[in-house]
Amino acid sequence: MKIVTIIGARPQFIKAAVVSRAISSFPDVQEVIVHTGQHFDMNMSDIFFKEMCIPKPNYNLNINGMTHGAMTGQMLEKIESILLAEQPNWVIVYGDTNSTLAGSKLHIRVAHIEAGLRSYNMNMPEEINRILTDRISSVLFCPTEQAIKNLHQEGFKQFPCTLLNCGDVMQDAALFYANKAKCPDFSLPEHFILATLHRAENTDSPERLQSIIAALEEIAREMPVVIPIHPRTRKKLQELNFDFKQTRLQLVDPVGYLEMVHLLKHCSLVATDSGGLQKEAYFFKKYCITLRTETEWVELVEQGANIITGWRYEDILNNYKQLKHTTKDVFSSPLYGDGEAGHIIIRELQRIDS
Ligand code: UDP
Repeated sequence: MKIVTIIGARPQFIKAAVVSRAISSFPDVQEVIVHTGQHFDMNMSDIFFKEMCIPKPNYNLNINGMTHGAMTGQMLEKIESILLAEQPNWVIVYGDTNSTLAGSKLHIRVAHIEAGLRSYNMNMPEEINRILTDRISSVLFCPTEQAIKNLHQEGFKQFPCTLLNCGDVMQDAALFYANKAKCPDFSLPEHFILATLHRAENTDSPERLQSIIAALEEIAREMPVVIPIHPRTRKKLQELNFDFKQTRLQLVDPVGYLEMVHLLKHCSLVATDSGGLQKEAYFFKKYCITLRTETEWVELVEQGANIITGWRYEDILNNYKQLKHTTKDVFSSPLYGDGEAGHIIIRELQRIDS
C-alpha cells in the first residue's frame, strides 16, 4: 500500500510524526511525504522533522508568503502532478490548513485525520478548509465522539465514506514524547503561565490583539507569562509599535515540540487560541483559558478543564481569577483515545483495501 502524506504547517508535522512512526511498523506500507512549505523556518518546521524523527520529505514545494487563494491554487497544481506520478492508494491530509484542502482535490482516495471538528465560525479559514476536506474524503478519522456527532448532523451517514473515531493522534504524541521532554535554553520561572497566540481572528484585529496582550500583561503582575511567539503575532505586534523591551511578558521564539512538552509539564496554567494546545493542556493536567469565542474541543469545556474567555480584557482577567485557585482534578477521562490512533488509522486503511 502506498500513501502520499501532505503536510505544511506546524501542527501537521506533530500529527504526521505519530502516523509516520506507525507506518514504519507496517513493512508493506510505503509513505511518500510532500511538504507544501507553508511553514518553513527552522523553528516552525525543521526542528520537528529532526526532533520527532519524521522522515525527510520526498517533495518540498516551497509555497508560502501568498494570499490563501494563491497558496491553495499553487499547492493544488503541484500536488496534482506529484499524485499523478506517484499513483498512491491513499492521500493522507491533516486538520484544517490550506495544505489539507489542496491535497484533497484529485480522484485518489483521501483519508482526513482530525475530521469532523467544527467551530461553526465560518470567518475562520480553518473552518472552511475542514468542511470542504471532510466532504470529499473517503475515510474520516475523527478524534472524538463529538466529531462523529457533528458529521452525522451534517448528513454524512448518507455519503459513501467511512467515519471512525480512532482517537486523537495528538494524544499518541503526548504519551510517546512525555518522557522525552527537553528543557528550553531560556531561563524559566518556577511558576508560570504558558501562553500562545496566533489565530488570524486575534492577530489581524489590533483591538483584539491589544486587549489580549493587555490582559496577559496584567496577569503577569502576579504570575510570569511565557509566550513562545508565533512569527505572525510578532510581526503584528511590531506593526502596532509594541514595546518588546518594556513588556512584563516573557516572549521567546517558537520552540520545538519536546521543549513545548517541558513547558506544558511545568506550567501552572495554559492560555491560548491554539486548537492543539487546548488538548495538550488537558493531557498534561493543566487548566486552560481559551482566548477565542468558541472551540472545536467542546468536551474540554464540558469537563470543566477549559474556559472560553474570548478576547476582551475583563473576561480574560475574570476567568483567570476563577481558574487560578482551582485544584479539582478534572483530567482523568480518556476523552481522546488511548494513544493508539496512529496504528488504528493505518490498520483501517489496510482493511478497506483488503
Ligand atoms: N507548538 C510547538 N512550539 C511552539 C508552539 C506550539 O511545538 O512554540 C506545538 C503545540 O504544542 C501543538 C502545536 O504546536 O502541538 C499546535 O500548533 P498551533 O498552535 O500552531 O496550531 P493549531 O493547533 O492551533 O492548529
